[in-house]
Amino acid sequence: MRMLKRIVIGLCIVLVLVSCTPKPVELATKTPSESQTETQETSTTTEIPEATQVSAPDQAGWWTDAVFYEIFVRSFYDSDGDGVGDFQGIIEKLDYLNDGDPNTNGDLGITAIWLMPINPSPSYHGYDITNYFAVNPEYGTMTDFKQLLEEAHKRGIHVIMDFVINHTSSQNPWFVQAQDKTSGFHDWYVWSPEKPNVAGPWGQNAWYQAGNGLFYYAIFWSGMPDLNFKNAQVNQTIFNISRFWLDNVGVDGFRVDAARYLHGEFDLQQDTEDTLTWFRTWRQVVKDTNPEAFTVGEVWTDVKTQSRYGGGTGLDSLFMFDLSDAILGNVFAPVPLGIMGAYEDAIYYFPDGQFSTFLTNHDTQRVMSFFGGNVTKAKVAAFIYLTGPGIPFVYYGEEIGMVGSKPDEYIRTPMQWSANEHGGFSTTASWEALNDNYEDSNVADQDGDPDSILNLYREVIALRNAHSALRTGAYLPLQSDCRQLYPVLRVGDDEILVTLVNVGRLSMEDCTLSLGSSSLSGEYSLQSIWGEAFSSTITFDANGAVSGFVLPIALEAGQMVVAELIKK
Ligand code: CA
Repeated sequence: MRMLKRIVIGLCIVLVLVSCTPKPVELATKTPSESQTETQETSTTTEIPEATQVSAPDQAGWWTDAVFYEIFVRSFYDSDGDGVGDFQGIIEKLDYLNDGDPNTNGDLGITAIWLMPINPSPSYHGYDITNYFAVNPEYGTMTDFKQLLEEAHKRGIHVIMDFVINHTSSQNPWFVQAQDKTSGFHDWYVWSPEKPNVAGPWGQNAWYQAGNGLFYYAIFWSGMPDLNFKNAQVNQTIFNISRFWLDNVGVDGFRVDAARYLHGEFDLQQDTEDTLTWFRTWRQVVKDTNPEAFTVGEVWTDVKTQSRYGGGTGLDSLFMFDLSDAILGNVFAPVPLGIMGAYEDAIYYFPDGQFSTFLTNHDTQRVMSFFGGNVTKAKVAAFIYLTGPGIPFVYYGEEIGMVGSKPDEYIRTPMQWSANEHGGFSTTASWEALNDNYEDSNVADQDGDPDSILNLYREVIALRNAHSALRTGAYLPLQSDCRQLYPVLRVGDDEILVTLVNVGRLSMEDCTLSLGSSSLSGEYSLQSIWGEAFSSTITFDANGAVSGFVLPIALEAGQMVVAELIKK
């Protein structure tokens, strides 16, 4: 049933596209660089910048203080009753995300949005693009999209878009033309006369035979042929696409899909020097177009490898997959030390704090399902990353504890707005069935429940927005004889905070806090600013060490506290 429905949806999108995409015959009469788009104003004769021309790192952009929210447009809110989420639907729900008024506390408080792919695509998810200079007509018009940007910006919300450039759709006119060996588009993709005896990066088949008899490189699947980044026209086109969305449309940056595979084919497939160089070059294009633009990469590997892409010369930020695994696995275990270690690794490789944190995204099992429905653990995990260093990204629905396990459609189901029919997502049956639990778990019901996971998210995001020490303060894990306590000292320029959460299943009391050394010295008053009220005095010796300070409160399982240290 589900599969059939997807095929029907896919066909519908293809039918829409046929009418609005230039015919291949017409394309063939133009050179590739001429045929990109009628709407772009940027010259296609621009020189490709040299990698050596990289500008000085401009750290601490707006994103440093942001809390992002990842939205799958198709599943967020349907404004026009066709069962498919859309741009106008997001506009209607912006006040839920952030109403732009710092004096209200009924909104989630996020300050940036990552939109999953918004370009025309034959798939439901959009990670195979057929036209890079247009928006998916199922989501609305370019006018609708620009209105979304305007309404978001009014509320202080930045918007970045998914940038899917490693590959196109096999239905993209570029690839359709590329079948013809005499076409200017042929070299835009990677071809081989024989099927190379080389597996893809994770052991999969990566070569498929096209209608022209040749084999093409496609690491994700046959419907997503990889672009050939050795081709100068491909590079200029990607640069022009970047300029188009930043300059002509007005997005605030890009989330780069599959970033580690751009320059890859045959047996050199990921993290190649050419790929790293490409991002240094692209950075120049992006920052020259908009110095405030933000780029974050999906480089799904260990933090050490990821660090080769960052450091102020390549991507602004990388998603910390190791850290995500550590938070989830060690809250589950529970072993707070493992989380501290993962944060320290991230800080070691990204000492400027320019890394992006998350619990799950559209490719992984939802948090609530990972914890088997344990709301306390979901709240603990949220508290840890929303009070931790880095730039947090909340996956839509995470804040109400939506459930979902693979296949992918089930972790991308429609947002559960209410217990009404169709979950308040639409007035009709949605493109994909809602989770069965929407009547018990939805925004409307959680809104008025002070103990709901939604209100926990609201409160902790508000804390983060109000306290720079949580965003950018130094991260100093404290030791405790309560092994399942997660206590962290955050030393900012203007304030010093300590975050505490009992990660275990049992209540704990008389827990000690100790620290080997720090920049602090003398007596500080310690007073909670969120969570159970308490006050005490904590003393640091001449080396900034603390020895056996006893917490004056007991902490129940899952209980969280944020306290402030003020020099006496
Ligand atoms: Ca719709």
